[in-house]
Amino acid sequence: MSDIPALLRFRPGVSVADLDTDATPGFSGSKADAAPAQASLNERLAELQELLYANWKAADDRRSVLLVLQGMDAAGKGGIVKHVVGAVNPMGVRYTAFGKPTDEELAHHFLWRIRRALPPPGHIGVFDRSHYEDVLIVRVHNLVPPQVWGARYDEINAFERELVDAGTSLIKVAMFISLDEQKKQLLERLDDPTKHWKYNPGDIDERLMWPAYQQAYQAMLDRTSTDHAPWHVLPCDRRWYSRLAVTELLIEALEKLDLSWPPADFDIEAEKRRLFDS
Ligand code: AMP
Ligand code: MG
Repeated sequence: MSDIPALLRFRPGVSVADLDTDATPGFSGSKADAAPAQASLNERLAELQELLYANWKAADDRRSVLLVLQGMDAAGKGGIVKHVVGAVNPMGVRYTAFGKPTDEELAHHFLWRIRRALPPPGHIGVFDRSHYEDVLIVRVHNLVPPQVWGARYDEINAFERELVDAGTSLIKVAMFISLDEQKKQLLERLDDPTKHWKYNPGDIDERLMWPAYQQAYQAMLDRTSTDHAPWHVLPCDRRWYSRLAVTELLIEALEKLDLSWPPADFDIEAEKRRLFDS
């Protein structure tokens, strides 16, 4: 495995239309090789998450991590949550899925519900869809006038700058599957009664609008991939690869925090004596 985060980082000028969604950048192994690699990465991730939590609890380290998962239906967001985020202690995770806004949410600025879902210090936040819906589905379906969604790119950049300055490391992942692979996945949902709950007839309507979505994703990447909060472009036809890659992204972000176990702020020997005597 070689530097997956660097390989996935969005480079200006890259076209969404040219992405190879079947690729596995930085991983030369097969699906069978991915399983043991995933198991050992999960262990490392769980350890790093515990360090983050411990440093907040014991040393008031206010930093946090926020994983933003953005992708079309059936790109595999749910699988990332289940298999990657599921590998860490839920105590330290703040997960939020963003669907169609409620009336209350619509009455507020688009970032209102986002701010309310930010990870507390010491936590890993996970956004299953995000504020980017407000420049994706909203743009594609003209849910607000172009001047309104058009201003949101700068608003988002400023908002993310604020988050990063306050100590949140952002990991933004744009997930892409081919239309063929999406068809296969949606068919699987239709064929399997245990997956009907994931199926939404509207998914086909969105699928038919892929050219418009492609444009919206392109604008999102071009305008909101910043130094403080870069996008990663993730090929998702092979789910085992995308999971491995997101695990690597989380590990990289956590390792950058350079965490170690917080030292005891009590006299260990004295505590032992008190314990024996108790
Ligand atoms: P799912 O993630 O499958 O539960 O679907 C949630 C749906 O809500 C998707 O079709 C999203 O595009 C849609 N959605 C999420 N955020 C917004 C938003 N801000 N405005 C309109 N639709 C949204
Ligand atoms: Mg869905």
